[in-house]
Amino acid sequence: MTRAGVLTAIVVAGLAVSGVAAQRGPRIPPTGAIMPVKGSLYVIHGAGGNTTVFVTATGVVLVDTKLANNGEAIMKQVQTVTDKPVSMIINTHVHPDHNGSNDYFKTARPTVEVVTHENTKKWVEANPRSVPATKPDKAFSDKMTLGSGKDQIDLYWFGAAHTNGDAFVVFKALRAMCVGDVMAWKMAPLIDPATGGSVIALPDTLEKAVKGIKNVDIVIEGHGDVNTWAGFRDYTRFNRALLDAAKAGLGKQTPEAIAAGLKPKFPVFTKEELLPEMEYGGTPLSRAVINVNVAFQELRGEPVTTNFGPPRAGGPGRGGAETPPPGK
Ligand SMILES: [Zn+2]
Repeated sequence: MTRAGVLTAIVVAGLAVSGVAAQRGPRIPPTGAIMPVKGSLYVIHGAGGNTTVFVTATGVVLVDTKLANNGEAIMKQVQTVTDKPVSMIINTHVHPDHNGSNDYFKTARPTVEVVTHENTKKWVEANPRSVPATKPDKAFSDKMTLGSGKDQIDLYWFGAAHTNGDAFVVFKALRAMCVGDVMAWKMAPLIDPATGGSVIALPDTLEKAVKGIKNVDIVIEGHGDVNTWAGFRDYTRFNRALLDAAKAGLGKQTPEAIAAGLKPKFPVFTKEELLPEMEYGGTPLSRAVINVNVAFQELRGEPVTTNFGPPRAGGPGRGGAETPPPGK
């Protein structure tokens, strides 16, 4: 691509992002200040998904890299806690608000290794518009361990949820994990049918994670605050209850009535306020209503149309025709 072409692409991407923000609520906040989580683990909020920073003996591991054009801002924050270079990027899933700035780190240091689940690799490779730096150098299927001792990272996959390539990233010694957009903003997840996401599969996947992952206290969500294992377990119960209620109410109740019925037991996940700093709009309750609708469509075997935004050409969707916006 020519320099002018690159600039045009960047401007168009920028307009697309601000267009989404304008339609859907608050402006996307910029890359924030690095925040300590525990020991050598930090999180950087803002500018898309959370970026988790893990400082190891051999270099810095980043989990997710926000929207495009935030690499320098991420690096400036990393440099306030360590002089070590970035050596690895783990992308929790395929969405461009989680792998958008991979290219900055790959350009600076081509040996930076990008790791994803194999389904995420498939979506990246199927999209003719994928930036090369989002293509993983290493992919895993069910489980993979990276590093050892206090630097050990365990990657797990338990099935479809937000997409069908969602990685759980566990920092064993610190009893902490990243869950990407399987859980974000303490509300029902957006389901991306174009990359294999499923409301029906979601509770199974979450329950397998609760059972299969041991000794974790800290849960870093894909967007928003850092949560706890207890919060993650409650969230699993909520998504199971949502699916059960959708099955029971199919053809009898409206999605609004079903979601409202979850309020007494799950007040956190059915709040009616807009959360502060939430980039893409919607209340927890409105998200629950969307997911009951998606459950209805999946249960009836209909195509899921309750997507999370207007389709955009050239994305990683089925047949490469449509893609989610730079949302979750
Ligand atoms: Zn996402």
